[in-house]
Amino acid sequence: MARQDESCRGDPLPENTADDTAVGASMKSAVSDASIRQLRRSLVRWEKDNFAEFPWRACHNHWHCIAAEVMLRRTAATQVVPVFQWFAAKYETAEAFADDNEAAVFGQLGLRQREREFRKLAETLRGKRIPREPAKLLELPGVGPYVAAAYRCFHLHIRDVIVDTNVVRLYGRYWGFETDGGTRRKRWFIELAERVTPRRRFWWFNYALLDFTREICNQRPKCDECPFSARSCALGRFAGGGRRP
Ligand code: SF4
Repeated sequence: MARQDESCRGDPLPENTADDTAVGASMKSAVSDASIRQLRRSLVRWEKDNFAEFPWRACHNHWHCIAAEVMLRRTAATQVVPVFQWFAAKYETAEAFADDNEAAVFGQLGLRQREREFRKLAETLRGKRIPREPAKLLELPGVGPYVAAAYRCFHLHIRDVIVDTNVVRLYGRYWGFETDGGTRRKRWFIELAERVTPRRRFWWFNYALLDFTREICNQRPKCDECPFSARSCALGRFAGGGRRP
């Protein structure tokens, strides 16, 4: 089954290191406030015409909301849609799911190994309110930093910062820094993502990030369709992509 562009969400947060601190200091001065404003502006404008109407984005049942975010970890959104619709119609509560010993969600997503953890999540939430605080969310089975942040941001409308490998790739291309599998765990990167995430309408910005990195700036960037000017994106400039100013 297809996976979302190698998103690796929900891993433990990073250790800080001396090297990390040095890179962080240089990144702080390299990334200007003006370039952050430009990125935000371009993304939120793009999102106006491109917001993806996935069913969990109009979801008010919090059990379904957190389940959707868990399903979306490392899985393509389009692949999750039919499974989520089936799941939401069948299991109104965590108890309903936990009581059905035959229930299988992740098998349908080709991720059978995550089934047991999801069942533990349902058992843990049996008869309980889902917590709002990051530390308490992170104690739940199968809930890592990405799922906790997405649940808080999109379903509770509490400001939080979305970091996954797709976001790392976009920021690396835009500001022209090298990235690897460990970048999202670096403190300097998390600080950059914190700086980029707006205080107001953060949820709209974060939707834009997810939609844009899925549709345009993905593993095969569509620089010709990109709303960023070639002058503003470091990779677009070198690749000759991006709309010319
Ligand atoms: S110009 Fe290309 S590399 Fe830069 S943000 Fe747009 S799609 Fe991504």
